Amino acid sequence: MAKSCSGAGLIFRVAVPVPIHRLFDYLAPDNIDADRVKPGIRLEVPFGKGKKIAFLVECTRHSEHDTGKLKQVERILDDEPLLSAQDLQLLYWASRYYHHPLGEVIGTAFPVALRQGKSVLVQTEKVYALTESGKATDSNQLKRTPKQKIVLEKFQSLGFEASPRHSLSEAELSAWNTNWRLSVRQLIAKGLLQVEFSRVGAHPPAVLNNGNDLHCNPPQQAAINAVCDSLGQFGVFLLEGVTGSGKTEVYMQIIRSVLERGQQVLVLVPEITLTPQLENRFRQRFTVNIAVFHSKLTDRQRQIAWLQMQQGACSILLGTRSALFTPLKNPGLIILDEEHDTSFKQQEGFRFSARDVAVVRGKMLNIPVLLGSATPALESLHNVDNGRYRLLHLPERAGSAIEPVLQLLDIRNKRMVEGLSETLIAEIHSTLAKDEQVLLFLNRRGFAPTLICHGCGWVARCLRCDANLVIHANEGLLRCHHCGREQKGPHQCPVCKAKELTALGLGTERVEKVLAELFAGKVIVRLDRDSTQRKGSLEGYLEEINQGRVDIILGTQMLAKGHHFPNVTLVAILDVDSGLFSIDFHASEKLAQLIVQVSGRAGRAEKPGKVIMQTRQPEHPLLTTLIRHGYKSFAKTALAERKEALLPPFSYQALFRVQAVDAEQPKLFFQAVISLAQKLDVNAMPVNTQDNDQQSGQTKSAAIQILGPVSAPMARRAGFYRYQLLFQSQNRRDLHALLDRLVPGIEKLKQANKVRWSLDIDPVDLY
Ligand code: ADP
Ligand code: ZN
Ligand code: ZN
Repeated sequence: MAKSCSGAGLIFRVAVPVPIHRLFDYLAPDNIDADRVKPGIRLEVPFGKGKKIAFLVECTRHSEHDTGKLKQVERILDDEPLLSAQDLQLLYWASRYYHHPLGEVIGTAFPVALRQGKSVLVQTEKVYALTESGKATDSNQLKRTPKQKIVLEKFQSLGFEASPRHSLSEAELSAWNTNWRLSVRQLIAKGLLQVEFSRVGAHPPAVLNNGNDLHCNPPQQAAINAVCDSLGQFGVFLLEGVTGSGKTEVYMQIIRSVLERGQQVLVLVPEITLTPQLENRFRQRFTVNIAVFHSKLTDRQRQIAWLQMQQGACSILLGTRSALFTPLKNPGLIILDEEHDTSFKQQEGFRFSARDVAVVRGKMLNIPVLLGSATPALESLHNVDNGRYRLLHLPERAGSAIEPVLQLLDIRNKRMVEGLSETLIAEIHSTLAKDEQVLLFLNRRGFAPTLICHGCGWVARCLRCDANLVIHANEGLLRCHHCGREQKGPHQCPVCKAKELTALGLGTERVEKVLAELFAGKVIVRLDRDSTQRKGSLEGYLEEINQGRVDIILGTQMLAKGHHFPNVTLVAILDVDSGLFSIDFHASEKLAQLIVQVSGRAGRAEKPGKVIMQTRQPEHPLLTTLIRHGYKSFAKTALAERKEALLPPFSYQALFRVQAVDAEQPKLFFQAVISLAQKLDVNAMPVNTQDNDQQSGQTKSAAIQILGPVSAPMARRAGFYRYQLLFQSQNRRDLHALLDRLVPGIEKLKQANKVRWSLDIDPVDLY
């Protein structure tokens, strides 16, 4: 029973981070002043058998529930909400748009520590600084301990008086050099360095910029002017420019103008591995405090970064998708680099698109949003066409760098050595002879994708998925790339006992092996998820490559993302055909982006690069358009095809995915969903009745098409049967109006208890 409450019937409507699509009512704590509590504050509430940290949405005097049965809020955690009213509005909007429970959406905006109810008072950050003796010591005295010498010099290079900060945080040290810890400890032991604690709320320095801006070319200057003229108001800019065209330089000069206005900048990149590189460039350019936010940091580091932005102690936040909702005290600009990258779309739980939400956030905050890419997403180009985004184009590489030449290599009927044609092998030899680097791209890790018995045709399959097991020869394992299950590679066929088991197809391990034989004595580095699992190993490899200690770089799509290899002059895509045939309509766009991105790694400096694609489809329109006319032409054709087929961005999609242990349950569930949808909206109809629909005089555009259910492209995964159902409409508002009513209804379906379902708004892949 509820305790008596002096707030006399005051009720807190609360968003609890659980996967349930509604708010929960609680009795306010005793002696609470309704005017004092504000939406967004964190609360501890009893929930089920335990307690949860939840968020106040509103105070009210009415509840649909029997107030006698309501439980009481246990504790109020914040005096003031940590999120601004605008940020809360953004989260409310995102919850509605993505049809995801508000409590989980608000939870996403907080770093784990605060989500778990930690106090915001942990506000100091460990930093290191020179002692007096450290300032006076000549670093040459440390020449026998070169690592310590480098660290000491780093601190001394900060300057003792002129620099606004003479100290470095752990995050800053890690961004500079992954191996700083031992040397710092030794320098502390020698009395040259000391530990200090700096307040999170430290003031930004007066000097913002090191003054080393480059002299920009006219297109760069035009881009900078366009965005700077728009500071203080909303606008979306799409900065299109090939790798090396000077986009980052443009970002930095715009950032300087924002900093001069006393405002903060949020910079998002798709991949954690891209943060150190950008962070270094920012730190060299700016003297302001820079915070970094991504999933590899500790909870404490993320909490500090978050609070530093919230309190205005840091001026730049550099992060991945998860940094998008970080509160900004004085927001001035949002930048998304590599905006086409699908890593910006969260693929589980709260499936938001960081790009799309960033645009909405910019609009709510009335600040510009700058999207950058060498290969803009088709949606973004469409938004340029319809006037929503403004295109800023950097047509060529900055400085003196030359763009690479793309060519198709027809390998039909050619002799191949483990996936390498003789022509390609010769090209590699001649590149290496010039002391230049080669980069080979193959988007499949492991040794080979299939193990087959030569005696009876048995194939090693995953027991829990509709997939073959991949051979990982280095570890002697077969591994499922979908559920992670692994087993020892068999010595004989489990069916016919034959000893001759054949590895079919090509993975990076296999190519690495043949490269080692063909190019004996050359240094080969393989970059894929297996070889870079150990923390810091990718950075180590990248460093070796950039110092010219590597001859051949072989890798998966990890290579396509932003890393710069200035000495690479030959890039080869070993198996471009495998990307040409997919049932997902997004596939051609992704392939074209991948090809252009991989090509962008070649010939950065004065050396021209060459890009070779091995194909058995030399006449394929995607490849020929891309090669003869470039990405923009490809994009134009692809958009025309999408328009013809009424696919996004010319229509809007919402994809329900469902899985269950029992193969029948997903179908029963979807039958119930379809009939519910038709009950709620007469315009919603399964796609096979669409023809009748047109006869009955309704326009196609008014309809919401329901496609499916069909079994997922991978029908079984990790032991679950998987199905999907696609809703599609040319009218976004109609589609969402239906979903607004459908989703709460689905939650109440009895068939929903037997399955796991999720909803993906604007899906970026149909798997
Ligand atoms: P992107 O981000 O488009 O790949 P960057 O901004 O990294 O391009 O620029 C690529 C290289 O060209 C960098 O080494 C950068 O310092 C240099 N660069 C950029 N702009 C100029 C310029 N206006 N003049 C000379 N060099 C430039
Ligand atoms: Zn067999
Ligand atoms: Zn599996």
